[in-house]
Amino acid sequence: MRVIIIGAGFGGLCLANGLLQRHRSDDDDMNMDIQVFERHSGPDHDLAGYGLHVDGDGKKALRHCLDGDTYRRFLAASTPAGSKWAFRGTRDLGTIAVRDDSKISGKPEEEVERRAVHRFEFRDILLKGLRKQGDEAAIGVKVQVHWGKSFVRYEEISRADANANGNEFVNGSVRAYFQDGTSAEGDILVGADGSKSLVRQQRFPDLKREDLGIAIICGRYQLTPDRVKKLPDFMTDGSLNNIVPRGKGWLFLASFPHTEFENVRESYTLWAYVVPKGDVDMNTIKQMTPEKMRDLVLDGVKGWKSTEFGLGRVIKDVDLTTISPIILKSMPVLPKDWNGSSKVVLLGDSIHNMTPMAGVGANVALRDAHLLTDTLVEVQNGKTNMTEAITKYEVEMKGYANAAVALSRQIAQGASSTSTVQRWAFHGLLRLAQACPLVMRHTIGRGALED
Ligand SMILES: Cc1cc2nc3c(=O)[nH]c(=O)nc-3n(C[C@H](O)[C@H](O)[C@H](O)COP(=O)(O)OP(=O)(O)OC[C@H]3O[C@@H](n4cnc5c(N)ncnc54)[C@H](O)[C@@H]3O)c2cc1C
Repeated sequence: MRVIIIGAGFGGLCLANGLLQRHRSDDDDMNMDIQVFERHSGPDHDLAGYGLHVDGDGKKALRHCLDGDTYRRFLAASTPAGSKWAFRGTRDLGTIAVRDDSKISGKPEEEVERRAVHRFEFRDILLKGLRKQGDEAAIGVKVQVHWGKSFVRYEEISRADANANGNEFVNGSVRAYFQDGTSAEGDILVGADGSKSLVRQQRFPDLKREDLGIAIICGRYQLTPDRVKKLPDFMTDGSLNNIVPRGKGWLFLASFPHTEFENVRESYTLWAYVVPKGDVDMNTIKQMTPEKMRDLVLDGVKGWKSTEFGLGRVIKDVDLTTISPIILKSMPVLPKDWNGSSKVVLLGDSIHNMTPMAGVGANVALRDAHLLTDTLVEVQNGKTNMTEAITKYEVEMKGYANAAVALSRQIAQGASSTSTVQRWAFHGLLRLAQACPLVMRHTIGRGALED
């Protein structure tokens, strides 16, 4: 089977690792050809942005798709972030409620604990997993990552043409075309090309991301041993925190500590301020200088009595080169009808790009990669045909992806709300959830129960 993957992001690379790994552990000679095409010029391309939290689903997918050494490298390169999300007030930054995913789901802490990882490091680990290819020939799998290949469009090729090429897996094949004039043919094309996916735009032209009219401003405060001593533990220990005033505004805060792993160069506390809806319009935010964005955040937290607990410092002394606005967009809930293509399939942000507010976009992409790995291996082993297998993948993926998209959108809307009544009600809910496990499970703990 010839598999073309567009995009060497977390989802695409996890899938490539998964296909390679499943073949390593299978006795049959698999004869699979996996080609990954990435627009970045090479593996050293700087991955802009902020660190990621990999949760229980993400770890399960990685354990399934990576070989043992590569998974251990992931553990070594990441730091524990616990299984809790704290909701804190602005008076003294004390906790109002703590969502503990281990307690809610009944799963052991080590299973659901999140790991904080730097993006560049994570991608590097996934790439190195593919480079351990000494045993490729023996298991009949070929994997290659092609850099500097910008996908532009695909073309489905009819059954007759494909059969002439000796294709025995699917009803036809698919050809991907790249900006440099080259092309590649496969039995299946996987769009793992992120939120602005050109694969999605061709396959589902009517399925468009929606602008939510909400902005967040993110920044990194570099941590030094001296700075760490002066801050409360929760700002430096990797835990996940939401600071929620009774009035408008919302601040997410988590640190990405340094590990001894080879490439990680820095420790920082990441903060993300949700700009109250209607306070500043989106175009104005996009044109602001880093200083202006920092001042907007400082202004937003001015009334919070907590600024003496180090919060003001973390914002005021932010590394200005890291400050940036993110205008929130989200895919709609995915449609029931998929037109049943067996040759072009999507995973990750390309099909369910969501706001970062639930912290699960990459985790859902990894879960897709896990599911699609097993799906394609079943087809390869002759246990099912491609059309049935892809339909099954899409139905299952839609179930959990739709839940995550809806949750992240709901959190974004709540966090940007300027309604005092709504905010007071939310504080009431937090207190109730903290006191009553059943309320916790069905409100702020909802994401922890989805499986
Ligand atoms: C501030 C912020 C914080 C976040 N925090 C978290 C978190 O803690 N946990 C979490 O789970 N998620 C988080 N996310 C979401 C997460 O970053 C994404 O959901 C995740 O990166 C999606 O993975 P992916 O593989 O689908 O896409 P990507 O990682 O975007 O990879 C897509 C790849 O495709 C390539 N590509 C694009 N177009 C083409 C083309 N035409 N041709 C060839 N290649 C192409 C890109 O260069 C890229 O390498 C966060 C997002 C933001 C913005």
